[in-house]
Amino acid sequence: MSEITKKTKGRVLSGMRPTGKLHLGHYVGALQNWVRLQEQYDCFFFVADWHALTTDYADTSRVKQSCVEITTDFLAAGLDPEKSTLFIQSHVPQHAELHLLFSMVTPLGWLERVPTYKEQRENIKDKDLSTYGFLGYPLLQSADILIYRADFVPVGEDQVPHVELTREIARRFNMFYTRKGMYVFPEPQPLLTPAAKLPGTDGRKMSKSYGNTILLTDPEPVVRQKLKTMVTDPARVRRTDPGNPDVCPVGDLHKVFSDRPTILKVDEGCRSAGIGCIECKGWAADALVSILNPMQERRKKYEDNPRLAWDILEAGSSRASKVAGATMDEVRDAMGMSLDYKLDH
Ligand code: SF4
Repeated sequence: MSEITKKTKGRVLSGMRPTGKLHLGHYVGALQNWVRLQEQYDCFFFVADWHALTTDYADTSRVKQSCVEITTDFLAAGLDPEKSTLFIQSHVPQHAELHLLFSMVTPLGWLERVPTYKEQRENIKDKDLSTYGFLGYPLLQSADILIYRADFVPVGEDQVPHVELTREIARRFNMFYTRKGMYVFPEPQPLLTPAAKLPGTDGRKMSKSYGNTILLTDPEPVVRQKLKTMVTDPARVRRTDPGNPDVCPVGDLHKVFSDRPTILKVDEGCRSAGIGCIECKGWAADALVSILNPMQERRKKYEDNPRLAWDILEAGSSRASKVAGATMDEVRDAMGMSLDYKLDH
């Protein structure tokens, strides 16, 4: 094993689809955690461009550009290419090879019962999801994870079944094929990301499809304007009406982003009608701006020279390919299909 492919600490794998500008929901739900994890683990974070095709395959004209944009968001949020391997999924074709091999051993029923598959088939009506790619995307995720023999996969609650599927695939592969009596794949564990409740400006979950997001790239005046229009506790019709920050989306923002004294001040002031919503929203905007400003500062050099992000992805993809290549050598060997002339194994 070379220095690159050798595991010296626990390995973490996660990815994100390049589907547009990232917002605070992405930051709280994933990126913030990734930035922490890179201090402790050998992290592989990838831009899942093939996954983007599983639901949006007809128009691929923006995929490459989106890969660079999302990487700029990663770097702005604090991912450090010296600590983490950042790469593009399609630049490491071994993911596809392993996906193909897994597709041979995976019972169809395992894929059909994945909760997100059923849910999205029922809820997404404006896209044709009756493709093999869509049915097979959790299996592609399994290949993404197992090709790096990741120990941990940071996920939200809704993605835990995908890690469970990956564990089942690893067990099934290991049951059929071993290499010198050893299992090829470890079973990865989910690392649950604490689910912070992050509402969008209309009070529903922050999501691009609801048009209620605060983007990581939003300049301060835009953040303040968006906060001004944010819904509040409907009980506070007049300034003198007491409210409840526990049922107010702005209160939720404070709980995620504000410091303890501000949260206490909001709690007390809201319940006693001692503060107005405009004032309270101003404090929430202050907290958001103090998170977003350093990110926007960091992203400047990548925006001035987009080639920098691409170079980081190329270097990361090259490193990832070495690790993935070593796994595929073992996979082919275990299956008796190695590339060298050797008729028994
Ligand atoms: S004072 Fe703040 S927490 Fe209370 S209702 Fe207004 S915006 Fe919401």
